[in-house]
Amino acid sequence: MDDTTINLLKQLPKIDEIVLILERDRLLDLAPRDFVVDTCRSVVAEMRGAVMAVEKKKTVSLQELSAETAAHRVRERIERLHTPSLQRVVNATGIILHTNLGRAPLCEEALRRIVEISRGYSNIEFDLTTGKRGLRYDHVRDILCAITEAEDAVVVNNNAAAVLLVLNTLAMGKEAIVSRGELIEIGGAFRIPEVMEKSGAILKEVGTTNRTHLSDYEQAIGDNTGLILKVHTSNFRIAGFTEDVELSELADLGMKRSLPVMNDLGSGCFIDLRPYGFDREPTVQEALKSGVDIVTFSGDKLLGGPQAGIILGRKEIIERVKKNPLNRALRIDKLTIAALEATMRYYLTNGDALAAVPGMKLLTTSVKAVEKKARKLLRILKNLSLKHFDIVLKKGNSMAGGGSLPTQEIPTVLLGITARNMSAGRLGERLRFLDVPVIARIAEEEILFDIRTIDESEFVFIREGLKHLDGHDGFT
Ligand SMILES: *Cc1c(COP(=O)(O)O)cnc(C)c1O
Repeated sequence: MDDTTINLLKQLPKIDEIVLILERDRLLDLAPRDFVVDTCRSVVAEMRGAVMAVEKKKTVSLQELSAETAAHRVRERIERLHTPSLQRVVNATGIILHTNLGRAPLCEEALRRIVEISRGYSNIEFDLTTGKRGLRYDHVRDILCAITEAEDAVVVNNNAAAVLLVLNTLAMGKEAIVSRGELIEIGGAFRIPEVMEKSGAILKEVGTTNRTHLSDYEQAIGDNTGLILKVHTSNFRIAGFTEDVELSELADLGMKRSLPVMNDLGSGCFIDLRPYGFDREPTVQEALKSGVDIVTFSGDKLLGGPQAGIILGRKEIIERVKKNPLNRALRIDKLTIAALEATMRYYLTNGDALAAVPGMKLLTTSVKAVEKKARKLLRILKNLSLKHFDIVLKKGNSMAGGGSLPTQEIPTVLLGITARNMSAGRLGERLRFLDVPVIARIAEEEILFDIRTIDESEFVFIREGLKHLDGHDGFT
């Protein structure tokens, strides 16, 4: 080590000195003392690292090593704890059910109900007619059964939990038969074979990746078979020379051999979306009609509700699912029940869901309506006379996301934004650092805002954000 480095290291502030400054500025009131002291230590360790790292190239100034500088850095970290980490953002990606951005936005009524129910007490597990203990899932059971004609229903934390719970209930220590074409991984490390292993069910693969026949299932049935499982392949498609077995054929096979048949629908939708330009997807009602015993699907994919796993099907199976002790560990929260109940009510009449549930509305909004919205935003932005940005309207495609309707292109309108003297990547980053972050698509040369997923009430964030960036440094 050379003399300069040794001298600089001697200048590093003492922990006590920093703490004294923080005490003076009343920052010790804002976090536990031990945390503050630990933070001081790590800041000083970083300063030491900086001295060691740059010793030959550049000298670190004394100012950079002062106790005031260290205190300032500790202060930033303490203050960060006092600002929410979970923030609202503007979804300009055009992916309607973006899992990383929280999937479906909730309808107004769901929000109202969450506030009402969480502010005080509720009858979440209390039967008001008998004055005895009730079941939390009963609040949504009747409504789910009315919409889908299922015999019974139970809801858990999410669909991954639903699949785990049903497999564990029906096939622990037994074989569950699945087509090799359906052994999928969806995002966030949900893999059918792994979930199955954790559930205690033994995976019995049948068929091949592209083709599975009814006879494959038939031949796989043995003394230790517990379940036949069909999984929606979600964000994955096999095209070309393919064959899979119809749900109704599997249901018949299950009936003949006295085996339960389960269908993990993944997204699960109550409304036939073909009139809105989408390909045929079996609805939840159709899946149940085909005769399967149990279906599972998410609350926050195409349904547009809160995160939940919905399990529908035959009464005696649902009873067993409810009684499984694992159910207690996967149980749904009262806020979710409140939001789910409010959202499901709109599905009693489909038209209401299309108008009131944001996910459904965003999915089925016509490209004409999106264009109108885009022109409005363009006008607002043009009126700002931004010095550094060029903005143009473009055609493009939105996506459903969340593993729903994966191959469907949904025509949309985009705003293409280029900043002079700034790369698209850099502009994308600047947009993420705004007070209300705007998450956009980053193309090679430009930033793209897909207007389909932006609500008009959010235009103000885009307007203020771009105005802020335009008046800011970084454009020199
Ligand atoms: C999305 C999905 C799941 C998991 O659902 P979550 O609600 O995200 O837990 C399970 N199976 C399939 C087929 C899916 O598409």
